[in-house]
Amino acid sequence: MKKTGILSVLLMILGAFQSVAKSPETPSPANGRPKLVVGLVVDQMRWDFLYRYFDRYSQGGFKRMMEEGFNCEQTLIPYTPTVTAAGHASIYTGTVPAVHGITGNNFYVKSLQRGMYCTEDKSVKTVGADNANGEMSPRNMLTTSICDELKLATNFRSKVIGISIKDRGAILPAGHSADGAYWYDSKTGNFITSTFYMASLPKWVEAFNASGAVLKYYEKNWATLYPLNTYLQSDKDQNNYESTPFGADQLQFPYDLKRFAEKKNFGPIRFTPHANSLSFDFARQAVQAESMGKDSVTDFLAISLSSPDYIGHAFGPNSVEAEDTYLRLDKDIADFLAWLDKEVGKGQYTVFLTADHGVAHIPGFLEKHRLPNGGVTGSKVEKALNAYLKEQFGRDSLCVAGDNYQFTLNKPLMDSAELSYEDILIAAMQFLQQQPGIDRVLEYAEMAEAVLPAAIKEQFSSGYYPDRCGDIFVILKPGYIDDEYGGKGTTHGIWNPYDAHIPLLFYGYGVAKGKTYQRVEMIDIAPTLAALLHIQMPSGSIGKVIAPVLK
Ligand SMILES: [Zn+2]
Repeated sequence: MKKTGILSVLLMILGAFQSVAKSPETPSPANGRPKLVVGLVVDQMRWDFLYRYFDRYSQGGFKRMMEEGFNCEQTLIPYTPTVTAAGHASIYTGTVPAVHGITGNNFYVKSLQRGMYCTEDKSVKTVGADNANGEMSPRNMLTTSICDELKLATNFRSKVIGISIKDRGAILPAGHSADGAYWYDSKTGNFITSTFYMASLPKWVEAFNASGAVLKYYEKNWATLYPLNTYLQSDKDQNNYESTPFGADQLQFPYDLKRFAEKKNFGPIRFTPHANSLSFDFARQAVQAESMGKDSVTDFLAISLSSPDYIGHAFGPNSVEAEDTYLRLDKDIADFLAWLDKEVGKGQYTVFLTADHGVAHIPGFLEKHRLPNGGVTGSKVEKALNAYLKEQFGRDSLCVAGDNYQFTLNKPLMDSAELSYEDILIAAMQFLQQQPGIDRVLEYAEMAEAVLPAAIKEQFSSGYYPDRCGDIFVILKPGYIDDEYGGKGTTHGIWNPYDAHIPLLFYGYGVAKGKTYQRVEMIDIAPTLAALLHIQMPSGSIGKVIAPVLK
């Protein structure tokens, strides 16, 4: 104190005034939070894609997150089926379908005796288009998401917005209390929402929809970013086991998209990397128009990038289309992070990147290389099962659903017809066991006694929510897919690592630099974010905090 003069005293007083004035806006270090959290879920991105195309990634995209952030190299999905709705719900709720109830994209609800779409909600109306594509809400999801918890923690002062090409990719992450969830309507080319969130679209969304953004992307067509002969990580461009989303006359690069602009056909953009760029364009508008990441009250932007899934289903993971998609996505991510640096401030936001599931190689491609493969067509098996059961028990429709590698028996019919559930169950299981490609047939009720490795058993029981699951489940042989398109394209949904091993990167505010090879799970993401943000875990969370991620 001896050396302090009048000036110093004055400065101290001034400082005291300043801190009083700033206190509501300036968090203390112990309660520090980023201004913005951005979730990036890349639909169908396998973990190995981080490395498969690493050499040609830019410095600012995947590599920036991998090298300057934290990389959880062994992140697994702890349940089946490994599909989009279950994945997005589990990432954001920190729990499994057995708890949050989103057991598939579609599931049969036994108590209602009908099938249901994951985000179906007939009590709400579409906002932004004159069709039923917006009759959606998160009401089928039984728990809160991390976004809901952020809202609760800040007395709803935080802003939460979900954005995706797919409805379920926007709705489930953003949670029940979101300010908005917007998804792409392939009938109109608009981003739409539902009356669950609002009565009319905000001005900025209307302006975006009126801007003709989709048509502008169609004008660009889709040619490869680099010369075709440099795509060394992919098979030759054209193969008869690929499907043809751009028309039977367009089997290879470059794809003409202008024709879709002329016909105002807004569907095909989903099968191009342009839809990722479109999603980021829309996200930038959201951040600016909704003033997200502008003050010390943390906001949450949940972005899901759906196109890699459409493209992967059509062309498979060993295609030029997939390689080009990831090289372009990397550039989009680099641009978006650079934009956030300016808009929100470098070090002021936290980003995580993960996937809702992976994907299997196309059986036809595996066949070429003598690798185990095959297809089982679930809908055909269900039909054959019903025919067999009719032959045995004299009744139609004894199996009412064959969704998600599960079969639901028609208990109400058995009760009214006085048929034995046990007899039909045994007959159905014996029939299914004889189908080529089906490795095991098990009964959920007898799961405890099943002779299966504990790790696999756990994946099935974690996916089991009784009212929304079948009575019997089947395990396919490794390399086999549910082949609904006659040998064209591929899919995902089963327990195996190619479907269940996903990338997980954290970057930015509060995140340490490093990596771990220790196994973590998809359901650990939300608790880790809860710890970083000093907020409550979602209401059904059973995941663990990945401690090394946190600074
Ligand atoms: Zn998919």
